[in-house]
Amino acid sequence: MGGAPRPAVPYIHVAADGSCALAGSRCEACGAVYAGEREVCAACCARGRMRSIALATQGRVHTFTTVCRSFPGVPVPFVMAVVDLDGGPALRGTLAGVAPQAVRFGMRVRVEFRDSGQRDADGNPWIAFCFVPATEDGQR
Ligand SMILES: [Zn+2]
Repeated sequence: MGGAPRPAVPYIHVAADGSCALAGSRCEACGAVYAGEREVCAACCARGRMRSIALATQGRVHTFTTVCRSFPGVPVPFVMAVVDLDGGPALRGTLAGVAPQAVRFGMRVRVEFRDSGQRDADGNPWIAFCFVPATEDGQR
């Protein structure tokens, strides 16, 4: 990708070898799962019971919309989806690699990390995630 990859959102973890993962937290008191790090559980208000976990790389489309107008330079149409990751939480992201009319509620998707095409001031690429269609076993 060139340069040191930088996560576009704080819950993307980029390893030294360039591999990426979604980081999350699970409440040991009630089991609620969140993207990113947390001190307090929003579901049960437990404090100090959050544990870091790796989020699933697969899930199902909960809902979606087709975006037909966007910022200048952003190709449209594209699909924006809310995906229920296996084991939680729900995340919003672009659903790529599928025509808007082919998207179905509950369809299986997986997380894919991509160079956003944007660079920081030092020329390092910003890494973003999107969802792409997957089969029931998580493969394309
Ligand atoms: Zn909790």
